[in-house]
Amino acid sequence: MAQPPHAVIAGAGVGGLTAAIALARAGLRVSVLERAPELAEAGAGIQLAPNATGVLAELGLLERTMQAALTPEHLRIRRASDGIELAHFPLGVIAESRWGAPYAVIHRADLQNVLLERCAATPMITVETGATVAGFAESAQGVEIAIKQHDGARRVMADLLIGADGLRSTIRARLGLGLGDEPVWSGRTAWRALVPANKAPASALKLETSLWLGPKAHLVHYPLRHGELINIVAITQDGWRDDAAADLWSISGKSTDVSPRFNRWHRDARNLVAAAKAWKRWPLFDRQPVRRWTLDRVALLGDAAHPMLPFFAQGAAQAIEDAGALGRAFTRMSDIKSALADYERARAKRAGDVVIASRRQGAIYHMSGPMAFARDLTMRSLSPHLMMSRLDWLYDYKPKR
Ligand SMILES: Cc1cc2nc3c(=O)[nH]c(=O)nc-3n(C[C@H](O)[C@H](O)[C@H](O)COP(=O)(O)OP(=O)(O)OC[C@H]3O[C@@H](n4cnc5c(N)ncnc54)[C@H](O)[C@@H]3O)c2cc1C
Repeated sequence: MAQPPHAVIAGAGVGGLTAAIALARAGLRVSVLERAPELAEAGAGIQLAPNATGVLAELGLLERTMQAALTPEHLRIRRASDGIELAHFPLGVIAESRWGAPYAVIHRADLQNVLLERCAATPMITVETGATVAGFAESAQGVEIAIKQHDGARRVMADLLIGADGLRSTIRARLGLGLGDEPVWSGRTAWRALVPANKAPASALKLETSLWLGPKAHLVHYPLRHGELINIVAITQDGWRDDAAADLWSISGKSTDVSPRFNRWHRDARNLVAAAKAWKRWPLFDRQPVRRWTLDRVALLGDAAHPMLPFFAQGAAQAIEDAGALGRAFTRMSDIKSALADYERARAKRAGDVVIASRRQGAIYHMSGPMAFARDLTMRSLSPHLMMSRLDWLYDYKPKR
C-alpha cells in the first residue's frame, strides 16, 4: 500500500498544531518541529471568535475547548474618561445562533493543551521540540528540510513543508516574496497581565468582555478559568519598538510603565490596571498582505502568512481558519502542489482583508479629540443588532467544503 504523504510543519503555535490535526484527518503523516526547548504557552487569554470555534467544531475539538473556556454574555464598549457605555451586543446564545458557533475566551495554555492532547492521541502526528527549521530545498523527490538542534544538525525529506513559524518566519524569508516583504511596525505596544479575581475590583468580575476606548489607547478585559483570573490587554501608542524580541511573549513590563498611562481613565479601568502587578510587553507588527504564500510544495500558515494587529482579536482565529482550509484542500485533492495552490486560493484574500480591517479598527479605537467625539456619537446610535450585523462578514464564516 502507498505510504501517506509526509508533511513537516515548522512551528507548534496554535496555527501549527491545528494544521497538524487537520492534515492528519485528511490522511497525511505529520511531523511538527518546534524550535523552543519546551512547549510552554504564555500566561494570557485569547478570544476565540465564532469563525475560529466553527473550524474547531469541524475538527472535533470544540467540545474539549469549551470545557476549558468561558462564553462572555456581552461585549460592552465604554468611554475611558467617564465610563459611559458607548455600545454593547450579546456574545452568548444569541451570537451563537447568529454566527453558528460560540464566542469563547480561554487561557492560551488551556487551548494549547487541548491541541497537544489531540496530537498525542493521533498516531499520524509527532511533535518534536528543540528542533529549528533552518532552511529547505525542493527537488523532484520532495522537500529536503534542514534542522538545527542543540546537539547538531540533520536533514529530513518530506512531501511538503508548512511554515507556521510566526511573525519572523524563516520559511517566508526563503520564499522570495521580494525585498519589501518585511514586518511593519505599528507604533503600538500591547501590555498583558493576569489578575487573580480576588485581587481585582468587583466591576471587573462580570462574565463579559469589556472594551475601553481612550485617546491613543484602549483596554480589553475578560474573565478566564471559571472566573478565577481576569485577563487584561492594554494597547498604547508609543515608542517601545523592540525588534529583536518582537515574536516573544517574554518581555516583562513594570507596573510603573503601565499604570501612569491610565491615571486619567474612569476608576473602574484605573483600578483594574493598578491591580495588575506583572505585565508582559509585546511590540505590535503586521505585514502588508500578499496574494502568494505558496511555492510548489511549501506554504505558509498563520502569522507567518498574514500577521495582523490584534484590534479584531483575529490572528489565531485566522490561523485556525487556515488550518481548516489546508485540511479541506487535502481531502479534495491528492496532488500536493494542487492542494497547496487550492489552500492559498481559499485563504489569501480573506486573511488579507482581515489584516487591513484590523489596521482600520486600530485607527478607530485610538482616535482622540473631535474624531473620538464623532466616533462615540455614532457608536451610541447603533443598536446591538446593527453592531452584530457589522461583524457578519468576519464571524459568519462558511468555507467551501
Ligand atoms: C496582544 C495580542 C493579543 C492577541 N489576542 C488575540 C485574540 O484574542 N484572538 C486571536 O485570535 N488572536 C489574538 N492574537 C494573535 C495571536 O496571538 C497570533 O496570531 C497567533 O498566536 C499566531 O499563531 P501562529 O501559530 O501562527 O504563530 P506563533 O504563535 O507565533 O507560533 C509560531 C511558533 O513557531 C516557532 N518557530 C519559529 N521559528 C521556528 C523555526 N525556524 N523552526 C521551528 N519552529 C519555529 C515559535 O517558537 C512558535 O512556537 C493576539 C496577539 C497579540 C499580540
